[in-house]
Amino acid sequence: MSAGDPGTLAINGGSPVRKDYLVFGSPDVRDAEIREVESTLRSGWLGTGPRVAAFEEAFREYVGARFAMALNSCTAGLHLSMIAVGVEAGDEVITCPMTFASTANVILHLGATPVFADCDPETLCIDPQQIAARVTPRTKALVPIHFAGRPADMTPIVEIARTHGLKLVEDAAHAIETLHHGAKIGTIGDCTAFSFYVTKNVITGEGGMVTTDDPEIADWIKVAGLHGLSRDAWKRYSDEGFRHYEVTFPGFKYNMMDLQAALGIHQLARVEENLKRREAIWKRYATAFADLPLRVPPDPTHAQDRHARHLFIVLLDLEHLGTDRDGVLQALHAEGIGTGVHYRALHLHPFYRERFGYQVGDYPHAEWVGARTLSLPLSSKLRDADVEDVIAGVRKVLSAYRT
Ligand SMILES: *Cc1c(COP(=O)(O)O)cnc(C)c1O
Repeated sequence: MSAGDPGTLAINGGSPVRKDYLVFGSPDVRDAEIREVESTLRSGWLGTGPRVAAFEEAFREYVGARFAMALNSCTAGLHLSMIAVGVEAGDEVITCPMTFASTANVILHLGATPVFADCDPETLCIDPQQIAARVTPRTKALVPIHFAGRPADMTPIVEIARTHGLKLVEDAAHAIETLHHGAKIGTIGDCTAFSFYVTKNVITGEGGMVTTDDPEIADWIKVAGLHGLSRDAWKRYSDEGFRHYEVTFPGFKYNMMDLQAALGIHQLARVEENLKRREAIWKRYATAFADLPLRVPPDPTHAQDRHARHLFIVLLDLEHLGTDRDGVLQALHAEGIGTGVHYRALHLHPFYRERFGYQVGDYPHAEWVGARTLSLPLSSKLRDADVEDVIAGVRKVLSAYRT
């Protein structure tokens, strides 16, 4: 093929599928959010205030939990949740190496040890049998991730927690819309942390939320997220009249701003509509890629499970490709298609190798996934033409590298 041939990869000098780069995880922000941010700015109340309270109430209602506490990130939510359920220095907390760094960082911040349980290679969620094999007398809590928006296998996980008296903190950064056997994620564990980071299904720029049914945990997180000041200290400058705050313990600066909640309120109002759009894109991708050397993780099989369609992941069939995952990623980048990697296995990052001595082979499923996983654009903002460009790009690149 010559460089002018439409089949020549852009990375080899051919013409790209797209001229304007398609950014991975571009947020779907509309006029309602923009107007709300503007009126927040004009209101003079930018920090934690009435819009945060309204967003918490809307989120609480959407999830069906008793309490919802808005914070400035999911990471902050995971950190406070760990403390709230009693994780302390010397404890072990079981989570999955197929996750984002912060799931395990917050465990380390408390002087506790993250103990990894491998993922299931089909669902990419933590494998309950692997959890059971790693419970020790020091285990304090379990942290499953609802990976890509698919519910983790919660029935056996809840059973393991109950049998051994363990706390259950769920990383639901991908899973705002997820159901497990008809139960909304956010109503099962002791605490559940959600993310509103820019690429997530509901965005506030940066932001997070913790849900719980326990009034003591709810109260503590609310206070701990605002320096440990007495409850409702944020109201001290409101029209309710000045009141002094009191420091009840040294807390954290983890509160959400009204500017962020202004986005969240309108994002959440469209959460179901946006999910329908991502479900349609998902279907189109799954059909279009059926004959390519890749695998799409299967849908949940239980009739009352719901997948939040956060990440459309393909697992590349490297045995039939003349390049690796990063080669495919770079070739797609040259075609004008942005992609993501969720994730390279956490235990093989330098910190974990050095501190805990982890090696290749310790968690074979997470390593297998981590070497071949690629996430394609799935934002509800994508137009049909964008979706067709992604398909054309993936087909072009994988056909060129197919062996
Ligand atoms: C995004 C993400 C987080 C962190 O969320 P932040 O809101 O950015 O702190 C944690 N866990 C997983 C699985 C994530 O994808």
